[in-house]
Amino acid sequence: MASKERVCKYGSPVLRRRADEIEEIDESVRKLAGDMFATLERSRGVGLAAPQIGVSRRIIVLSIPQEDGSRWKAAIINPEIVRRAGTAKSEEGCLSVPGVWEEISRSETVEVRGLDLDGKEISVKGEGILARALQHELDHLDGILIVDRIGPLKRHVLKRHLRKLEESTAREEGSAPPATGASEK
Ligand SMILES: [Zn+2]
Repeated sequence: MASKERVCKYGSPVLRRRADEIEEIDESVRKLAGDMFATLERSRGVGLAAPQIGVSRRIIVLSIPQEDGSRWKAAIINPEIVRRAGTAKSEEGCLSVPGVWEEISRSETVEVRGLDLDGKEISVKGEGILARALQHELDHLDGILIVDRIGPLKRHVLKRHLRKLEESTAREEGSAPPATGASEK
């Protein structure tokens, strides 16, 4: 099973599942958020969703660089997009899909509602990198990856790279198909 030390990569089944709603904000949720922030910091990312560390629950964390060099951080539980406007295209990558950096079309601004770690309702309105990160991480909670949001031609070009990623993930997670000649079980 994936540990908090590792980000689940393309091919991992947990990335394709719809994550479960969080019904109670207990110690396990607070610990999960802590693990997610630690993983995000180590990976130098701007956002992370729980499925990316192998936990199929609806929580995302964000760490958005600010102009003054600090980072704005938030954990959002059961997040939902309640408003979106405009369209913006920008290049985007994903910690779970290394080696892929593609232009993706998203809403320009979004408003997301959810709960914070104290169970209080919060609303986050974002544009720019924050809007992009919110939409990207919410996609993860529904089992959607950036490669699902690129055109068929681009996806075709990436086919071999994605297959290799899938194979190495299967090896790492110990579910590799038997090598040629090996007997099936
Ligand atoms: Zn991602």
